[in-house]
Amino acid sequence: MVGVIGDPIAHSLSPLLHNAAFDALGLDWVSVAFPVGAGRAAVALSGMRALQIAGLSVTMPHKEDAFAAVDDTTVVARRLGAVNCVTWRQGALVGDSTDGEGFLASLRRAVGFDPIGTRCLVLGAGGAARAVTLALAEAGAAEVVVVNRTAARAESAAALAGKVGRVGSGADVAEAELVVQATPVGMRRGDGTESDEIPVDPGVLRPGQVVADLVYHPLETPLLAAAKRRGAVTVGGLGMLVHQAALALERWTGRPVPVEAMWAAAEAHLGR
Ligand code: NAP
Repeated sequence: MVGVIGDPIAHSLSPLLHNAAFDALGLDWVSVAFPVGAGRAAVALSGMRALQIAGLSVTMPHKEDAFAAVDDTTVVARRLGAVNCVTWRQGALVGDSTDGEGFLASLRRAVGFDPIGTRCLVLGAGGAARAVTLALAEAGAAEVVVVNRTAARAESAAALAGKVGRVGSGADVAEAELVVQATPVGMRRGDGTESDEIPVDPGVLRPGQVVADLVYHPLETPLLAAAKRRGAVTVGGLGMLVHQAALALERWTGRPVPVEAMWAAAEAHLGR
């Protein structure tokens, strides 16, 4: 058994993705969503120990608390101070973060983008932006510029990229070869209506740029639609969601995972 903990959790796609992979692999495993309130991550992970659950995905608001509650952590999790994937391994809980690796895998799959030597810009400085900033720097980006409305958080995220990281502004977007949108701006609203917000001046987007949005609801955000109109190549957020889940499943099952089956299940669910 595996699962996901978070709050809210009812709309999480993780069980759908995990169970699609188990079906495709012919594995008699199941994934379920566990509603776990704020401050209860350590208790939930004690339950994971007691029940010997093979793996848990960790989502808002537990990523930092889970980091503190596991027995061991990977280098990436330690750099981020956050965990999105916990694996039961030989009697110990190991915390990891698959978000950054999942993002890079989705870029490769969608458009064959390799960050090495490129100028990258990340909008936002929260948990997802931090994972992406670190992953781009580790993958050899020449520059990772972080743009965020709260300056202190931008500084902290940019520091994850070391020598190639810096804080920037909207004026830097035009120069970037990769623009990553890592804020909730553009997400479908809770009442089901579409947002029309775009977090940058669309006039600076251009051919030759890759514009990736981590938001996947809707699959095409107002930013991606504008970037497409401006001639940029676009990448939606569903790929990162699918790939980070696939990487978690590989850690839990020790087997290669059928990403295409997970992708198809997610697209069918989201109505594509
Ligand atoms: P988070 O930790 O809460 O960070 C949110 C970031 O967005 C912060 O930097 C915040 O700025 C900024 N922000 C929020 N509202 C804004 C607004 N109206 N205008 C400008 N900036 C705003 O959230 P997160 O976990 O990083 O998630 C960010 C987004 O990525 C969410 O939409 C989430 O669904 C998506 N996501 C997708 C995946 C995937 O697999 N595709 C994975 C993780 C997250 P301040 O610092 O100034 O508050």
